[in-house]
Amino acid sequence: MTIDADFPGGNIIFQSQEGDAVYLRQDPRDTEGWWFYWYFRVRGAEGRELRFQFTDGNVVGARGPAVSLDKGLTWEWLGLEDDTHDAFTYAFPPEGEEVRFCLGMAYLQQELDKFLAAHENDPALRRDVLCKSRKGREVELLRLGRMDGGEEYRWLLVARHHACEMMANYVLEGIMESALAQDELGAWLREKVYCLVVPFMDKDGVEEGDQGKNRRPWDHNRDYGGRSLYPEVRAVKRRFMARGVQRPDVLLDFHCPWIYGPQDEAIFWVANDTNQEKIDRLSAILQRVRTGPLPFDPNDNVPFGEKGNGWNCWEGYGGKETFALAPSHWRNVKLVGSLEVAYANAHGVPVTAESARALGRDLALTLREFLESG
Ligand SMILES: [Zn+2]
Repeated sequence: MTIDADFPGGNIIFQSQEGDAVYLRQDPRDTEGWWFYWYFRVRGAEGRELRFQFTDGNVVGARGPAVSLDKGLTWEWLGLEDDTHDAFTYAFPPEGEEVRFCLGMAYLQQELDKFLAAHENDPALRRDVLCKSRKGREVELLRLGRMDGGEEYRWLLVARHHACEMMANYVLEGIMESALAQDELGAWLREKVYCLVVPFMDKDGVEEGDQGKNRRPWDHNRDYGGRSLYPEVRAVKRRFMARGVQRPDVLLDFHCPWIYGPQDEAIFWVANDTNQEKIDRLSAILQRVRTGPLPFDPNDNVPFGEKGNGWNCWEGYGGKETFALAPSHWRNVKLVGSLEVAYANAHGVPVTAESARALGRDLALTLREFLESG
C-alpha cells in the first residue's frame, strides 16, 4: 500500500502505519501559524478498512473528507464520524487503482480545463493570460459576456487569493455558466456585462497544494498596498486598478472560511469599511431571488469592525490592503465585496460542485437586479 501527494494540489506528510491505523498530518510549508489543507491518495488498499488519524489538529471538515474514485474528477463527502474532526475511517472498495481524499472537492487546473473545454467554441468566452506566475505558470484571465466595448457594466471576479479555498471556484463556474447560457439571464449578461475572471490568484499555490492562507511574509490577499510581492497581484493592480486604466465597477473576491462550526457553515458576505449598505441591499436581493439549494441568511454576514472587534478590521488584516479594501474608495465603483463559501455545509445543506454552481447562478441574478435597480 502507498500513500502520497505527488500530484497537482497534493499535500500530506505521512508519518507511520500501525496495522490498519495510518498516522499523517497536513504540510504547512510557509504558513505562519496553523492551517488545515491536505489532499492525498492511497493505492493498493483494495478491500481493506483503514483509519486515518491526523496528528496536527482538527483538519476534517463539517462533512468529513471529500473522496474521489476517479483521480479527482468527481467527489463525494464521506460524512463525519461521531463529530470527530481529526480522523476518519474508510472501507476501500475491492477494486480500483486509487482513492483520493481531500479536505474539500479539489479544484485545480484539471477542473478549469474541463470547464473551458466544454465551452471551447463559445464566442462569449475567451481564455487569455493575466501574467506568468513566479514559477512560470500561465495565470488564466477569462473574458466573458460583451467584449466589443459596448458593455454597461464591467465585472472583475477572482478566487484563490488563498490557495486552499477550492469550493469558491465552483461558485465562479456557476456565474460563468450563467453568462454562456441560452436563456434570458445569459442574454442580459452578454448584452450588458463585460466579465473578467481570474480563477486562480495564487496559481503556484493552487497547483502545488499549498495552504496559501497566511503565507509568509504575507499572503496574496494582503498584497494590494504598496509594492506587491506576487506577479498575479501586480498584474491585477496594473491592468484593472491603476489610475488611467478602465476600472471594473463590480469587484468580487471569493473565499472559503473555517472548515466547521456554526459561523462558518454558511454562505456570507464580508463587508469592508465602505460597503455595508450595498452588502445589505445585495443580501436582501440574494435572499429573495435564490432558487439553488444552498441557504443564505443576511444575518450571517460579517460587518467591518472597529479595533479589537474580530478579524474583519484593519488590525485584523495587519494594516494591509486587500483586494476588497483597495478599491473601496474609488469614485463610481458600484460594488466591492468578498463572499465566503462554506467548504462543506451551509445551514445543514451540503456544499458540492453542483450546489455551489447553483449559488453562482443565483449570484448572477442578484447582481443583475442590484445593478439595474440601483
Ligand atoms: Zn480566503
